[in-house]
Amino acid sequence: MSEHVDRLTLEAYAEELVPAAQRQAVEAHIAECQVCRARLASARQMSALLRRLPREAPAPYLATRLNAAIAAGRAPAGWAAERSLSLDESDATGQRMTCS
Ligand SMILES: [Zn+2]
Repeated sequence: MSEHVDRLTLEAYAEELVPAAQRQAVEAHIAECQVCRARLASARQMSALLRRLPREAPAPYLATRLNAAIAAGRAPAGWAAERSLSLDESDATGQRMTCS
């Protein structure tokens, strides 16, 4: 049996965010691995619970503070310094947060 599917891939698979080629490899492994099936079931359960949480709009000053942190070089690892963040404050779902 091949190596277990890593946690991030299983979580992405549970969210249907894995590309088709990788998806087939995950499905082939899961079909033969009880450990990964159990992990996938857990990931799906967590995903379902997270979807039930209420969505809250970000604080109006969030984009300003994040952009200031980025400009000051205090951005979290992985954030490019040239990125700036804009938030559409009219959207209460918080899904329209964009990086440009
Ligand atoms: Zn496995």
